[in-house]
Amino acid sequence: MSAGPDMRLPEVALEHALRFDNRLVRRLPADPETGPRRRQVEGAVWSPVLPTPVAAPRLIAHSAEMAAALGFDEATILSPAFAEVFGGNALMPGLMPYASNYGGHQFGHWAGQLGDGRAITLGEGTDASGQRWELQLKGAGPTPYSRTADGRAVLRSSIREFLCSEAMHHLGIPTTRALSLVATGDAVVRDMFYDGRAAAEPGAIVCRVAPSFIRFGHFELPYARGDVALLRRLVDFTIARDFPHLSGEGESLYADWFAEVCTRTAVMVAGWMRVGFVHGVMNTDNMSILGLTIDYGPYGWVDDFDPDWTPNTTDAQGRRYRFGWQPRIAHWNLGRLAQALSPLFADVAPLQAGLDTYASTYAALDRRNIAAKLGLAEAGDADVGLMQRLHGVLQAGEVDMTLFFRGLADLDTRAPSLDVVADAFYDADKRDALAAEFEAWLQAYVARIEAGGEPAELRRQRMRAVNPRYVPRNYLAQQVIDAATRGDVAPIGELLEVLRRPYDDQPGLERFAARRPEWARTKAGCSMLSCSS
Ligand code: AMP
Ligand code: MG
Repeated sequence: MSAGPDMRLPEVALEHALRFDNRLVRRLPADPETGPRRRQVEGAVWSPVLPTPVAAPRLIAHSAEMAAALGFDEATILSPAFAEVFGGNALMPGLMPYASNYGGHQFGHWAGQLGDGRAITLGEGTDASGQRWELQLKGAGPTPYSRTADGRAVLRSSIREFLCSEAMHHLGIPTTRALSLVATGDAVVRDMFYDGRAAAEPGAIVCRVAPSFIRFGHFELPYARGDVALLRRLVDFTIARDFPHLSGEGESLYADWFAEVCTRTAVMVAGWMRVGFVHGVMNTDNMSILGLTIDYGPYGWVDDFDPDWTPNTTDAQGRRYRFGWQPRIAHWNLGRLAQALSPLFADVAPLQAGLDTYASTYAALDRRNIAAKLGLAEAGDADVGLMQRLHGVLQAGEVDMTLFFRGLADLDTRAPSLDVVADAFYDADKRDALAAEFEAWLQAYVARIEAGGEPAELRRQRMRAVNPRYVPRNYLAQQVIDAATRGDVAPIGELLEVLRRPYDDQPGLERFAARRPEWARTKAGCSMLSCSS
């Protein structure tokens, strides 16, 4: 065990297909101190720290796809040793646990050093196909970056991260993944509503998996400290490890890399906008350099279409992270990254070019979303207008985004009627009041389809490929959480099973596609979430 003399955890062998090379810790400067004493860490990208053992680790869910990719077979997954390792009580041979050091802009303001306050990377390596994976426990106990907090995570937020990150993958949107969800058997105290009524909740640990967990904030911190040497080392490392297809050198390589980060970020956000995902905390420390959706906290899924909705109660005032602002917030965040990288450039032009690439890529993807969501071969200016008009009536009419677009695919253009989206309306009065507007929109839409002259089935297929039937609606996740809190963890696996095929109809499972029930309209966890997790 190379993490330090005072660090010890038992080692258990688990069969898997990863070859650990722990490249980040071998190549980048380390904090000389070991262990979780809270501190400012200068001149280093990572700190050696071990998970803190938990009382009674028990596996309560896992991702079959992720287990297969990493080469864990079913027997291994279900073994007590697996829960020991992924609950933080033991290590497998080859791991070098650490917490990484990053800063970030939170809600528009520079926040200084943040770092992995409750995430501990166990190790990184490559699978049988050469794909790189880092295994990271979230909620594994204190690290040097835990500040005043405990390094733990509660069951409810861990279930949400586990389910939503896997769902996002199956929706085809870049994301970190989740291998396992382990209940710790320990209680974690949280003040969920920030009203002074702290309560003990069950604790849990998710093992997140991604090729890299490097964030924009990793680059911002050395920039803010004027440590250009460290900044350059981190950039060179990131390009070599995570962007090996990029060639060239010096400024032109850095420019190509930044442009790719911008493009990937645009792809991610366009994915979110297509399916109605609201991240909720798009701080720069929660932005992945690979353009992966990362850090599932007070996120939410749009039920009734509303570009102004934010699920995050901490964001309720300014609503900076509202659904409709996500594309521009991503641009702002990329601006902070550009600023952090500026010492590596003689001139800002390449960085500005990257930001422009974000804008043009996002605009093109937005067009593609509009076309596909409406079932058109491509979207011209008039079609953008058609979509904007639709957004207006959907918002005014309180209409479920997912159900509406899915149902619209079944529209019979010879006899157009709102019947195909009847289940999408939350308020019958609003529907009736807006009947004429909906009617007018349907007519314009049908005229557009007919002008396109394509077979109805082609349109339908196009729409069904991008408009999911199943998303991890907030209330569905909450029902699973409520069951798990009562001791019934089976619903976690049942919901995950449905979310594995979000674009299929899945007869018999329609209840998982139902719009938000009335009881969930204002219930915590269903429409509003706090950062407390
Ligand atoms: P977030 O807003 O969840 O992305 O977290 C912002 C910062 O707070 C990150 O540095 C996290 O690691 C840290 N943090 C959040 N929750 C905890 C916790 N329970 N214990 C320690 N650090 C935490
Ligand atoms: Mg975070």
